[in-house]
Amino acid sequence: MPDIAPSTARTRPPEVDRVAASRAAVAARRARAVVKAAIASGERSPVEVLDAASAEPGGAEGTLRITDFLMSLKAIGATKTADILHRLEIAPVKRLGGLGRHQRARLREFLIERFELPATQHRTRLTVLAGPTAVGKGTVARFIREHHPEVMLSVSATTRRPRPGEVDGVDYYFVSDAEFDRLVADHELLEWARVHNSHRYGTPRAPIERALAAGKSVLLEIDLQGARQVRAAMPDAVLVFLAPPSWEELVRRLLGRGTESQEEQRRRLATAKVELASQEEFDARVVNSTVADAAREVVELMNARARRPRRAVTSSGR
Ligand code: 5GP
Repeated sequence: MPDIAPSTARTRPPEVDRVAASRAAVAARRARAVVKAAIASGERSPVEVLDAASAEPGGAEGTLRITDFLMSLKAIGATKTADILHRLEIAPVKRLGGLGRHQRARLREFLIERFELPATQHRTRLTVLAGPTAVGKGTVARFIREHHPEVMLSVSATTRRPRPGEVDGVDYYFVSDAEFDRLVADHELLEWARVHNSHRYGTPRAPIERALAAGKSVLLEIDLQGARQVRAAMPDAVLVFLAPPSWEELVRRLLGRGTESQEEQRRRLATAKVELASQEEFDARVVNSTVADAAREVVELMNARARRPRRAVTSSGR
């Protein structure tokens, strides 16, 4: 005859086990409090704690809630914690030892960027490539996308129709006026502008923030109004002006492209004149004589930026 325990004994552990369990819970809470205090005092680095959590998910570090962990970091309160978790795509209920591989990698990059790099490297790795119409910004940007996969090239949203050969999601996100209105209303664009007095163009915010949080270099190819908005929102961004070898060459390139109506060409040349006059606002100037050379110079500026403090980035070709 098997020894069947009464049902109450199956659902409730014996008194002695419950006492032991509650003692263990108190000890675990204390251990987590010690970890938080060590992070707050600077005795332990956040990255080291994250690594300990990954090594032992059931330990004091591993069972620490991600929200408690972030809020014990210097200058991070409840609002910033929510922001960071949103950006890193981590649910607030997660514990440090229970993060997925990609979540852990994103959090680690964020912590290194924010807490471990020397002050001179605490910068937004964001570069804006702007310049007059038809100077070849798009061609230079595409060359960089093809030859430098380490650079994340932002894909803009636009209300204009695709040109032959352009691919939705690669060259632009081609959206309706209503969808663009929604993107603006929901603050989903880092910047946006009506370009050449006709269509609207804007930079989707989320992919940029994700890439920057992961420590990637990001390149935006946008117009001057957009460049100014980025400068206001992220003063650390580097603004590179792509200049034509001459005004005559710019006119030749614009007319030679043959993709715009005469009216559109006239509008674009008028904008280009104003844009050429704005060069002084930029951190650097690159002359687009050949696409490969201009792309190389832009990438060199981005790399210089990753190594040196902002003031040390000098203009090129000016
Ligand atoms: P296109 O119609 O020739 O592709 O581009 C027209 C202009 O819009 C170019 O000067 C380009 O740099 C600019 N542009 C493209 N994407 C954006 C964007 O996201 N924001 C802003 N402000 N300008 C953009």
